[in-house]
Amino acid sequence: MSKQRAKLVVGNWKMHGRLAENATLLQAVAQGASALPGDLRVGVCVPSPYLAQAQSLLAGSRIVWGVQDVSAFTHGAYTGEVAAPMVVDFGASLAIVGHSERRAYHRESAELVAVKTQRVLEAGLTPIVCVGETLEEREAGATEQVVGTQLDEVLAKLSVQDAARIVVAYEPVWAIGTGKSATSEQAQAVHAFLRSRLAAKGAEVADVPLLYGGSVKPENAEELFRQPDIDGGLIGGASLKDQDFLAICKAAAAVVGVAG
Ligand code: PEP
Repeated sequence: MSKQRAKLVVGNWKMHGRLAENATLLQAVAQGASALPGDLRVGVCVPSPYLAQAQSLLAGSRIVWGVQDVSAFTHGAYTGEVAAPMVVDFGASLAIVGHSERRAYHRESAELVAVKTQRVLEAGLTPIVCVGETLEEREAGATEQVVGTQLDEVLAKLSVQDAARIVVAYEPVWAIGTGKSATSEQAQAVHAFLRSRLAAKGAEVADVPLLYGGSVKPENAEELFRQPDIDGGLIGGASLKDQDFLAICKAAAAVVGVAG
C-alpha cells in the first residue's frame, strides 16, 4: 500500500509573462502560500529570462523556482541554449525536462530527455521528468507502454541514488491545455503503474514524488490530490492566475492536513 507523502505543487508558466505582471503574480503567490500548512512544497518554473526576478522576489519565501528546459550540454558553442549550471547561479532548484511540448515541437527524443535529466542532476537541481501519452496512444491501449518506456529511458541512465532525486510528472498530452483533465481514477491508475516501475529500480526510488499535470483547476485539484499515488501537480494555465494557483495549493494542503 502507498504511504502518504508530502505534496508538491509546481507552476509551469510556459512562454508567458512580462516583468510587471510577473511581479504581481509572484508577490501574490508568495504571500498567499505563506499562510498554508507546512507539509506542502510549492514551486514555479518561469521562462529563463525571468530567473533573476524570481530569485529576487521569492528568496526567503516558501516558494522554490526553476526553468522549463535545459541544454543537454554543460557549456560550449550551442547558440541559444541555457545550461543547468547557469540556472543554479540564480538560486533555482527545479528544471522541467521532457515536457510534451518539447517532445512534440522540438523533437526531443527519450534519449535526449534522459541526457538532460543527467545534466540537471549533476548541477544539483531537481528534474521534473514529464511523461504522457497522446489520445491516439490511449485509445490504442498503449498508455502503459508509452509512459513506461519514457520513464525507463531516463531510469536506465541513472544510478539508484540519482533516480531517487527525480520528480516524475504524468501529463497525458490530451489533457494539457485542453480543459479536459484525466479523471482521478485514470490518473491514479497510471500513477500506480509508474510507481511500480520506479520501485523496480530500487526501494529508495519508489517514493519519488509523482505529480499529475493536465488541466488541473481549483475545481478538480483536491479530488486528484486525494489519490494515493498522486503527490501533487504540475500546473500550466492555472499557474498564471494567483487565485487559481493558490486555490490548487490550498487543495493540496487540505489533503496533507487530512492525511497528516
Ligand atoms: C503543463 O503544460 O504542464 C500543463 C499541465 O498545462 P495545463 O495545466 O494548462 O493543462
